[in-house]
Amino acid sequence: MLILNARYVLPVNQPAIRDGALLIEGSRIRAVGPRTLLLKDHPEATGRDLGEAILLPGLINVHTHLELSVLRGQVHPGHSFVDWVLTLLERKQGLGWEAYVTAVEEGIAELIRSGTTTVGEVSSIGASFMGLKRSGLRGVVYREIIGLDDTRAEAISEMPFAHIEAMREEARGTPLDVGISPHAIYSVSPQLLRLCRQFQQRARLKAAIHAAESPAEIEYLRSGTGEIRRRLLPATGWGELPPPTLGTSPVAYLHGLGVLDPECLLIHAVHLTEEDLDILAKSDVKVAHCPRSNAHLGVGQAPLKALLGRGIATGLGTDSLASNQSLSLWDEVRFAHRAHGGLLSPEEWITMATLGGAQALGLDREIGTLEPGKRADLTAVTLGKAGADPYEYLLDEASPEKVRLTMVNGVSLFEREET
Ligand SMILES: [Zn+2]
Repeated sequence: MLILNARYVLPVNQPAIRDGALLIEGSRIRAVGPRTLLLKDHPEATGRDLGEAILLPGLINVHTHLELSVLRGQVHPGHSFVDWVLTLLERKQGLGWEAYVTAVEEGIAELIRSGTTTVGEVSSIGASFMGLKRSGLRGVVYREIIGLDDTRAEAISEMPFAHIEAMREEARGTPLDVGISPHAIYSVSPQLLRLCRQFQQRARLKAAIHAAESPAEIEYLRSGTGEIRRRLLPATGWGELPPPTLGTSPVAYLHGLGVLDPECLLIHAVHLTEEDLDILAKSDVKVAHCPRSNAHLGVGQAPLKALLGRGIATGLGTDSLASNQSLSLWDEVRFAHRAHGGLLSPEEWITMATLGGAQALGLDREIGTLEPGKRADLTAVTLGKAGADPYEYLLDEASPEKVRLTMVNGVSLFEREET
């Protein structure tokens, strides 16, 4: 047994504990409380004093594409969302497996060094699944599926479905869960969406889909026109375009296909009507909020106040390095705080980056707070200012350079000695 103690422990489900401690046994937390009490009750445990530091649940990055780390800094946003997608597809051409593997390794190291313990990862080729498996990080790896030819939906689905089954076998005994990600409404045909849905239910998988991200997507579903129809689809090779369902919103369209349920993570969710918000709340759908990516691509800002007001579980995601500068959730939460003005307090932002992420990925029974029975997934940040409020300090000052410790399942993945 191990007792970790620090100037502050932030359990997140209860107020900060000054001079707090955690008792860890194997992969789980056994007790949380004042340091003196835990040391007295468990004299047999090994003690480790983190000193002037803040101990909190590991950060949860609910949406990334680690394989796209290979395009770090290479995909400029251009004039529109469609420009960006076209550039991305062009830059990906000719990249080999090794380049992806190396980029994934670098991305994972960046996550771990920034105190992230869980990731919601969309993988298109499986390289990130293998990298994450080696890393010891926790995560849900959603296998991406793309295909627009409705008449070939069955054939298109065969290989990815088999890949999901194989990854599930390989994930046994690891902190990884495998899910399915039909990419987006404009890249997956209605019949393929239905097949993904059936497979998801049969195999009891979590699902993730990009939806309501750009004005172009809204226009495509409303009137079948615009840049997606005119420029993107003819250039992609994703297949014949089925007739778009006109006059609908992305959320209403997915709802009509029966896709939305509590296991579904909606990525971006920027453009939502009042009816869309009602549907999301009733379906208990989860949302991945990616404020820096949304800003980088100029698609708009998600209606966070309305989402939270309706009780929709929302976590923060960096998205990939093709639309963001870093994979650090500290950068994301700081940007979100600025972008959304005074919407949430520092404590509420830290809660979104931890418990909110766990809820969004459907993992909140196991992680997201420091409480007895949950997994020992945590991070520690050096506290540089005596007497600072720990939540304010984290929001203003935390960065990968200040992360002292990243632990998943009671196993330390990263440690930095105090200098
Ligand atoms: Zn994405």
